[in-house]
Amino acid sequence: MRIVLLGAPGSGKGTQAQRLVERAGIPQISTGDLLRAAVARGTELGRQAREAMDGGRLVEDSLVLGMIRERLGEPDTRRGFILDGFPRNLAQAHALERLLEALQQPLDAVVQFEVDYRELVRRISGRRTCADCGRVFNMLTSPPAASESCPKTGAPHRLTQRPDDNEATVAERLRVYDEKTRPLIDFYRARGLLRVIDAAGDVNEVTRRLAQALGAPLRAPRGAKRRARKGAGARPTHHKPTRKRAVRQSPGKLARRKRAVARKVRAVGRGKSPRATPAGRGLKGRPR
Ligand code: ADP
Repeated sequence: MRIVLLGAPGSGKGTQAQRLVERAGIPQISTGDLLRAAVARGTELGRQAREAMDGGRLVEDSLVLGMIRERLGEPDTRRGFILDGFPRNLAQAHALERLLEALQQPLDAVVQFEVDYRELVRRISGRRTCADCGRVFNMLTSPPAASESCPKTGAPHRLTQRPDDNEATVAERLRVYDEKTRPLIDFYRARGLLRVIDAAGDVNEVTRRLAQALGAPLRAPRGAKRRARKGAGARPTHHKPTRKRAVRQSPGKLARRKRAVARKVRAVGRGKSPRATPAGRGLKGRPR
């Protein structure tokens, strides 16, 4: 299943995407997380992205698209993916459409998370992330339990606030969402892909609405319920190929497929596909 989660900052896309990863066994691709990782590693991309992120503006399309092309070329996306925070403007949406067309992997659904402005601000101000395991909490609605420890360190979670979660930057991010991202609702509605859910209220209730909006593929994978009963939780299954699949996909075949995908991705990047135009032209160059 290939889906896009669309919604304002603080609408809960990231939290629900993490739950989807467990239920559907497909990876979450968050451009925000990828960019923050690049900033933390001090790469050239991170250096170029940092100023826009700190100001609550969008990072340049060419940087984000390069990152997405690379990520969608990785083999764990073959069974599907959850795009979280991408696309964020019309140029990115058109570029994604062309890329997925070339890969013959069209989107199955786009889910729009509806939450009102005041609730968004409230949620963002309470948001904290564990610096070690990356899990996101909300001090107002879902703080870590007193007895809970970080799976990475075994110690209590080290909670940090994102540098762009301050008042001024949040206001700018919400403004940018309205101006650049909201038009994607009509873009995907016109393609018959849009599903809208009420993302206010209890987090489990939102998970239920999301599952309902997406339909059957979201039922927990085989064995997940049994593992959950045993206390192991519904672990992601995407890195655990069945014996049958492991036999069918020899290393040579996998490598050939990976090279073919990389070729297609490069071709799209160079504008070689029949319908492709150079991606990442910036916000002004509205693609066809
Ligand atoms: P949120 O949805 O809460 O704003 P994200 O983690 O998705 O948080 O994004 C954080 C920041 O990263 C954004 O404010 C923006 O600067 C940058 N960013 C993330 N995704 C994109 C994207 N698709 N295009 C441009 N900039 C992005």
